[in-house]
Amino acid sequence: MFDVIVVGARCGGAATALLLARAGHRVLMVDRASFPSDMRMSTHMIWPAGIARLARWGLLDALVASGCPALPESTFDVGPFALRGCAPAVDGIRDCYVPRRTVLDALLVDAAVAASAQLWEGVSVDGLLTDGDTVIGIRGRRGCR
Ligand SMILES: Cc1cc2nc3c(=O)[nH]c(=O)nc-3n(C[C@H](O)[C@H](O)[C@H](O)COP(=O)(O)OP(=O)(O)OC[C@H]3O[C@@H](n4cnc5c(N)ncnc54)[C@H](O)[C@@H]3O)c2cc1C
Repeated sequence: MFDVIVVGARCGGAATALLLARAGHRVLMVDRASFPSDMRMSTHMIWPAGIARLARWGLLDALVASGCPALPESTFDVGPFALRGCAPAVDGIRDCYVPRRTVLDALLVDAAVAASAQLWEGVSVDGLLTDGDTVIGIRGRRGCR
């Protein structure tokens, strides 16, 4: 029995599950992928606002320990000219980081599981179970990607 079922357990879903689990809710995360997984197209440059959240959630040290370097400055080269600089600081954090999804998503999933969320990997959700107007569960299949 769960209070919340989060479908999709990457940076959006796992972060949501993490916060809900830490708030004391019984949370299930479901994803058709298995973690760590790189099966998502993304550069994944995380700006200071995102890094500040990771720091607040106690996860920035683990990101740094993964070997992902800080990016104190970046250049946007649009052809005729280039913009060079750094993003405005958030909570005193000015660096960006560009972790691989195998690192970032796994970090968030592991933190959510450590906060007592359950993770069902390799499960594809294809419908909702309802009782009248109330959603009471999900319908899915194992082993689908
Ligand atoms: C080329 C590219 C570059 C990008 N660069 C950046 C960047 O530099 N910085 C940045 O912040 N953002 C970037 N983005 C955007 C960023 O990747 C997305 O905003 C981010 O991945 C969204 O995260 P999410 O967890 O919400 O969803 P996703 O990462 O899309 O994850 C959704 C998860 O849900 C699962 N799922 C979906 N449906 C089901 C189902 N029915 N049953 C079970 N599981 C399901 C999928 O398997 C997947 O694991 C980029 C995106 C692209 C495409």
